[in-house]
Amino acid sequence: MKEEHFIIIGMGPSGTQAAFTLRKQAPDARITVMSKDAERAFTPHMLPDYIAGKISEEDLYPYDPSTWDELDIHVRRGQRVTDVNPANGYLLLDHREVLRFAGLILAVGGRPQIPEPFLPYQNLMFTLKTVQDAKRWTRKLREVDSVLVIGGDLTSLAVTKAILHLEKRVFFLINKDAFWPLRYDKELMEEFSNRLSERGVEVIPSGRLKSLFREVNGKIGCQIDNRSLQVGMVGAFLGLAPDIRFLTRSGFSMDRGILVDEYLNTGFEGIYATGDCAQVYHPELRDYWVSIGYENAVTLGRIAAFNLAGCRVQAKVSGESIFKVREVNVNTSWWAEF
Ligand SMILES: Cc1cc2nc3c(=O)[nH]c(=O)nc-3n(C[C@H](O)[C@H](O)[C@H](O)COP(=O)(O)OP(=O)(O)OC[C@H]3O[C@@H](n4cnc5c(N)ncnc54)[C@H](O)[C@@H]3O)c2cc1C
Repeated sequence: MKEEHFIIIGMGPSGTQAAFTLRKQAPDARITVMSKDAERAFTPHMLPDYIAGKISEEDLYPYDPSTWDELDIHVRRGQRVTDVNPANGYLLLDHREVLRFAGLILAVGGRPQIPEPFLPYQNLMFTLKTVQDAKRWTRKLREVDSVLVIGGDLTSLAVTKAILHLEKRVFFLINKDAFWPLRYDKELMEEFSNRLSERGVEVIPSGRLKSLFREVNGKIGCQIDNRSLQVGMVGAFLGLAPDIRFLTRSGFSMDRGILVDEYLNTGFEGIYATGDCAQVYHPELRDYWVSIGYENAVTLGRIAAFNLAGCRVQAKVSGESIFKVREVNVNTSWWAEF
């Protein structure tokens, strides 16, 4: 008989790994995975290759749809959790349905951040997080011959490579606050500019974006310092921020992400956070670190599931692999080549 209902919010790499591990550790439990996105579990780091036309949409999905049924894991896609009540063990969906749980794993990941100065122009900017976003990029790229990429983060490099592969012209406005999850320094900036220039990208180092507007011909007008530019589309890659606004009233301790101890526990019995949305305590540093990257997400997902199933597994990270970016301790497993 299935008595315990475990819910995992998030169907990214971390939530998916948590679900598979939990099934092994708790063979009789009822397991539900929630995702606000309608799409199947996919590999986000392959989206740039899809945009470049190097792989098909089907290649983005690592698991056969039958996997979940075979593991008896109930999947609810396109369903947004709007609130969690950790003390009373229930959560609320945006259509007001209430779901009770005996254990919960929060694996809600991050969302593209648009910093304050760019907010007035966000409707003119393309971001990239989901398969739907990638399809929007693909459609638009068919119509345009040039792109302004605003960024510096690792996704911006991967997407620039994809746009160049499609033989479009790329202007790159380097935003030095956007090197997340890398540390910005002068050498990195120089290496970054050189690599881009070598590939034929027109680099605009540290310019200040004064305005973006739609021209009568449908193109996007850009005013960067004293320079005017016209491009077909604008992409913004300014890092990912944990997607935890919906938890503001839940009672979880939160800083940049959801604060958890070294066992990924939130402080509420049976409730864990993992992947890009977690901020994990490091006993030796006596401080928290945030996780960025696919491999970290998978590892932490596994640990959260073990602990929810009653084990005691620590998220061990050596102090040397943690560095500070804008006052935040970061541990990244992200890889990049350009
Ligand atoms: C374009 C791109 C390229 C990348 N390239 C690399 C790379 O080369 N190497 C690397 O290491 N990392 C890369 N990353 C980062 C890597 O993909 C992330 O670190 C990883 O996906 C984090 O996994 P996660 O499961 O924690 O979160 P996510 O993958 O963000 O998944 C979050 C899940 O939570 C769900 N969710 C969120 N809020 C709610 C809610 N309120 N209700 C219900 N469901 C909710 C979402 O629908 C989603 O299913 C890339 C990311 C992107 C976007």
